[in-house]
Amino acid sequence: MSECIFCKLVAGQIPATRIYEDEHTLAFMDIGQVNPGHVLVAVKKHAANLYELDEVQAAAIARACRKIASVLKKTFDPEGLSVYQANGKAAGQTVFHYHVHLLPRHAGDGMELVWPVKNPPREKLEEYAAKIRAGLA
Ligand code: AMP
Ligand code: ZN
Repeated sequence: MSECIFCKLVAGQIPATRIYEDEHTLAFMDIGQVNPGHVLVAVKKHAANLYELDEVQAAAIARACRKIASVLKKTFDPEGLSVYQANGKAAGQTVFHYHVHLLPRHAGDGMELVWPVKNPPREKLEEYAAKIRAGLA
């Protein structure tokens, strides 16, 4: 049996406050509730991270996020909504089963993401872009 906590949650082996599901996704309340209405949208079939998602799962997650985000906006009337998704420990991932955070935001709510911009010269952007384009080709 899987030791993955979100696989157990999807299977109903541990409690969850569920709000939505379809064939490929399950959405439930994040137990930590950084702000009221903090929801996680997870894939049902185990994938550790974005790299492991198949195209059907990726599309299903995007659809579910869009649907639930609209409801959060109407229901909680937040000033903003952060969509957060971590891949790997260095990125802050703590549960290694793919999920997206939908997090209603309010000015001064204490949720901070430091964004240490480097503003490199255009040549650097071109250099990075060339590598990515080569990977996409
Ligand atoms: P991260 O992997 O950093 O994107 O975050 C994992 C999130 O899962 C955290 O915000 C936790 O509060 C949440 N979490 C962990 N266990 C549970 C659980 N059993 N039910 C609901 N949320 C959970
Ligand atoms: Zn899992």
